[in-house]
Amino acid sequence: MQNNELKSSNYKSSDTCSSELSDTSPSNTNINRATLYIVATPIGNLEDITFRAVRILSQVKLIAAEDTRHTAKLLSHYQITTPLISCHEHNEESRIDTLIGKLSQGLDVALVSDAGTPLISDPGYRVVKGILDAGFDVLPIPGPCAAIAGLSVSGLPTDSFIFAGFPNRKQGKRISELETLNDAIKEKKSTIIFYESPHRIVRLIEDILLVMGNRPAMVAREITKHYEEYLRGMLSHILEILKSRPTIKGECALFVGWGSTSGSGAITVASSVADEISVDGLDHSSSELKQDLLQSSYDEFDSILLNALESSKVKISALAKTLSRQYNLPRQDIYSRILKLQQKP
Ligand code: SAM
Repeated sequence: MQNNELKSSNYKSSDTCSSELSDTSPSNTNINRATLYIVATPIGNLEDITFRAVRILSQVKLIAAEDTRHTAKLLSHYQITTPLISCHEHNEESRIDTLIGKLSQGLDVALVSDAGTPLISDPGYRVVKGILDAGFDVLPIPGPCAAIAGLSVSGLPTDSFIFAGFPNRKQGKRISELETLNDAIKEKKSTIIFYESPHRIVRLIEDILLVMGNRPAMVAREITKHYEEYLRGMLSHILEILKSRPTIKGECALFVGWGSTSGSGAITVASSVADEISVDGLDHSSSELKQDLLQSSYDEFDSILLNALESSKVKISALAKTLSRQYNLPRQDIYSRILKLQQKP
């Protein structure tokens, strides 16, 4: 690449060096050319937004948002009054000129998506490319991203990972995508990250099992939200749990590690729902036992269920409800598991 092809960004003094104190007054921005800021917003919990993101969203002259009504709620929460225009996959191209118009007047603008980091399985690529091609600065305001948040708690290797985004909805194409992915990660044994709708997560896991075999994995559901849940274990066990549910709700991301079927098969289920309801008639309330459950293998979990079954005289549905409250686990999972255990000879 020749020197004259290199493009550098002029960083504004108010936005440099996050570890140093800087003058963040509005007058100290706009000392260089105008900038498009790509601003990450919460993926669930409204508190997951940086001070800088709030300041930038307050200071820019226009915010291009995937869904203006959605972003209006966030802005209102932070008392930000900056005007919004829509910028989604169907009008993205036509918004480039509007944004260039503002930037040409020396006015900063921002781009946000409904949740998380714009452009990550979200609109914005064409805007960023168009604005860069027009010679303006584009700077990130980093923050939440479901892929990275989930990966960081997956317990799977993080030294090399591939973001696969949403798999193809057609099974034939999805299978060949998975085959290509499998070949691509062989060398580095990378962890794979998928985004998937809750309605298709079971089918995706079935296809991965078909193409890649059983692997250690995690399904993260509703990250940072009230009912967040992390299912960790071998794909086959996660599949079993998901299939036992009448419905799967909420946003899901799937993380698939490397390894063979010979893994321990240990599964852990965690939820952020507060365990505030006391349980009558069952002596399983100790925190040690709860900890045991979270760390136990499937067999140990089964023996906890069997013990509870033996020592309680209530109906299975009531027992499942009680244990679900007790251990913060989905009632339906416990119910199905007890039924399966009862069917065993
Ligand atoms: N730009 C976003 C990001 O930075 O993560 C992703 C947007 S993409 C349209 C939405 C998908 O991201 C969802 O279908 C789900 O797969 C994943 N996702 C977003 N928020 C999530 C959350 N709170 N928990 C789990 N997955 C989430």
